[in-house]
Amino acid sequence: MHPRGCISFLSIGGFDLREQIEVLASLQNVDREIKEKSVAKGVLLAEIQKREKEIQAKRAEKALLKDEWAERDKLRQDKERVLQEEGRKAMEKRMRMNRIKNLKELQALQREIDQIKESNAQLEEELITVLEDLEARAASLKEKEEELKKLEEEWREKLGEIETQVVTIEQAVAEASTLRQAIAARLNGDLIARYELIFSRRGGMAVVAVSDGICQGCYMNIPPQLWNEIIKSERLNLCPSCHRILYHKPAVPNDKQI
Ligand SMILES: [Zn+2]
Repeated sequence: MHPRGCISFLSIGGFDLREQIEVLASLQNVDREIKEKSVAKGVLLAEIQKREKEIQAKRAEKALLKDEWAERDKLRQDKERVLQEEGRKAMEKRMRMNRIKNLKELQALQREIDQIKESNAQLEEELITVLEDLEARAASLKEKEEELKKLEEEWREKLGEIETQVVTIEQAVAEASTLRQAIAARLNGDLIARYELIFSRRGGMAVVAVSDGICQGCYMNIPPQLWNEIIKSERLNLCPSCHRILYHKPAVPNDKQI
């Protein structure tokens, strides 16, 4: 970059530099619009990703609750089966008692029946605990399912809105890109290349007006000699401080700076 920020642009021969910079400023307007829209689209896509990740997490939580419930329910089934089998065994033993006359054998059988009764009573206690636990788990599973369902419904609606916004943005960007091509066709290729480099390095602002002797890109004062050069517009003048392309825009009431 030239130390005085004043660059001779000989290859621009055949083009009116003042007009070229004005066209460049309108190219910048379009580029800024494209940039803004791309950022907006990025925000929307990030929101989609974030929300879908949240829903995935909720689905995983629900699946975990369901698995835990199923595991406990299997325990319930096991206990019920044991209870039933032991009950059946106790009944068989009681029937056998009717056929046995030997007292010792009867007493032994009675002890076995009592043991079964005792262990079944304990099993029943355990089963009640498991059933209570299952009930609580079923309630929180249902709550989670409802929460998820609501979230999915809300999100489906919101996603539709966001997708419409994305499509609108994409259409606007496509239109802006067509417009950009038309504007770019009027510009010198080297000038566009230089502009694009500055645009990408300087936060999407490469061409700036000088107003009251101040660069509107970095708000630094422009030396009087450079200001004269800018008015003459024979060369491409860069701001010595922010290296953006400077141009003079005659003041018009209510005119907005580019
Ligand atoms: Zn500047």
